Amino acid sequence: MDRQEAEKRVQTLREKLEEYGYHYYVLDQPLVTDAEYDQLMQELIALEGEHPELVSEDSPSVRVGGEPLPFFEKVEHQIPMLSLGNAFNDQDLRDFDRRVRERVGDNVTYSCELKIDGLAVSLTYENGKFVRGATRGDGTIGEDITNNLKTIPAIPLKLKQEASLEVRGEAYMPKKSFEALNEAKSEAGEEKFANPRNAAAGSLRQLDPKIAAKRNLSIFIYAIGNAEGQDLASHHEGLAYLKELGFKVNNESKHCATIEEVIEYTNEWLDKRADLPYEIDGIVIKVDSIEQQKELGFTAKSPRWATAFKFPAEEVVTVLRDIELSV
Ligand code: NAD
Repeated sequence: MDRQEAEKRVQTLREKLEEYGYHYYVLDQPLVTDAEYDQLMQELIALEGEHPELVSEDSPSVRVGGEPLPFFEKVEHQIPMLSLGNAFNDQDLRDFDRRVRERVGDNVTYSCELKIDGLAVSLTYENGKFVRGATRGDGTIGEDITNNLKTIPAIPLKLKQEASLEVRGEAYMPKKSFEALNEAKSEAGEEKFANPRNAAAGSLRQLDPKIAAKRNLSIFIYAIGNAEGQDLASHHEGLAYLKELGFKVNNESKHCATIEEVIEYTNEWLDKRADLPYEIDGIVIKVDSIEQQKELGFTAKSPRWATAFKFPAEEVVTVLRDIELSV
């Protein structure tokens, strides 16, 4: 592909990805499957890699999420809520491991977690009390959805210690609740949700908290964004601390000594994921040492110390019509 053709293709890909991203992140109504979106994104990243002069700061390849909806109060994240790099096969995981070891040496272990398919949220606690909850939004500015989040029973309103901290997690709709909700919608002649992820996001981004309260949502907390006076050496210690505080932390995480062990874990969950009561769309792999995480740092869009292994698509193509927010 010559430079002119590449420029045209890059333009087309950006326009498509912008449109798909808007429907997915802002309206919670995807137009295409995640696999289709990911494929176009990979093509864009490859073309931008081959033609660095085409790289632009507002390309979907470097932007996180979508704009916050105007009817919620805006919340500025003290520490940006970023996206994750992707791995689609074993070779991508080995490449990730090589890049990590090139920067921090060979003494690396990984924390592996299920990648819950829901909505990323940030929860802020002051002296042990839940004071604010927000969506990721565009990574820097999110939406204040505190009142909706308070309806999720798994979110402690008061912690077991008087800690002040910000935590991150994935709010999700269990498969059973999703099926019941879509059945009720179908009986009422209303449009169904495309998948549990969109149902969870659509429920939490409503102005009336009574809607979220009826949707049987839950949450897994997977990271500390910011914790005063906490000196944790590793991510897996962080998860144990979160449990101590009273958060719901997923029990299936595994601390792996090598990337081959990580690959085994991803294969294991590829087989077992259908048995889970909630949807996962992959595995998140994080360098376990906090010191090494700091050394690796971030790109504009994602941490260099983590990657998301994406499972091949399981979903059927969904056809979605108008662009109003589903209730
Ligand atoms: P991502 O979903 O690939 O990964 C980042 C997210 O993973 C985090 O924000 C967090 O919400 C989530 N996560 C779940 N469990 C986690 C854990 N244990 N630890 C850390 N994070 C965890 O990135 P993204 O930027 O949220 O979304 C990009 C993806 O969204 C695309 O790859 C695509 O699959 C999908 N997408 C689809 C469409 C569409 O039209 N179908 C449009 C835009 C995006």
